[in-house]
Amino acid sequence: MNIILPFILNDGLLRGRYVKLSSLMNDILCHRRHPQLIERILAEAVTIGLMLSSFLKYDGLFTLQIQGQGPVTLLVVDITGDGSIRTSVRYDEALLPKQAASLQEIFGSGVLVFTVDQAVQKEERYQGIVELSGSSLAEAVERYFQASEQILTHLILFSKELDGSIQTGGLIVQMMPSDKGAVEQRSDAFETACVLADSLRKAEFFDENLSAEKVLFRLYHADHLLLFPAKSVRFACRCSSEKVKKMLRGFSSQELEDMYQNGEIRVDCQFCGKTYCFKKGEWE
Ligand SMILES: [Zn+2]
Repeated sequence: MNIILPFILNDGLLRGRYVKLSSLMNDILCHRRHPQLIERILAEAVTIGLMLSSFLKYDGLFTLQIQGQGPVTLLVVDITGDGSIRTSVRYDEALLPKQAASLQEIFGSGVLVFTVDQAVQKEERYQGIVELSGSSLAEAVERYFQASEQILTHLILFSKELDGSIQTGGLIVQMMPSDKGAVEQRSDAFETACVLADSLRKAEFFDENLSAEKVLFRLYHADHLLLFPAKSVRFACRCSSEKVKKMLRGFSSQELEDMYQNGEIRVDCQFCGKTYCFKKGEWE
């Protein structure tokens, strides 16, 4: 079960998303394993990407990107409007810290970039950028909403690792971007929702006998909780032989010459790890 469950509280003053990913990270990581530190940060980025993308209406592509100058130089999570997700991460393993590390130690000075590209109206591109700061990705996202959109936001993330398998997810609550209700009333409601979100325990979150709906009801039954249908998400890469051929046609013959090894050109998809091999001229 890999789902995003949307909800609103206090008659629409607040909105939220509950994300629970039982197998998604394993589906992503079965194509390529990484050191534990990388897999953890990837799991956080995936959960955050799903939370934020589901706040938006789009038919194209949502991308969360972290550009760093430390051991990890690039982390990408992209999510299509219909819930297909894929990830890619670039790092220098020799430089990675051995233990749990701060954002600074992982990315150096970095930026967090959110982009939404609409499929139909291609000129409509939304982009948000924030400096990577705070002690965690969750905190960096909270700061982004506070600073650039003036929307109070709180998120908590959970992750459980067992025998190399990762389950992850979390909860985000946000003040609705509207002028509905007095500011004071809205911030009181927000404070209450945050305290309740923080009261959620990891064991409760991962309890297999508790559905997402039950957990939210336990937390927010007194706050006019209104649930919307859950949306399922899945790993899927959009690479194809045709797309790689098109890319190769963009190189000069000298560049192609340099790419030859043992009479063929091999291209690895950075998202799913699939290898494409072409003999000379096969891409034309
Ligand atoms: Zn691929």
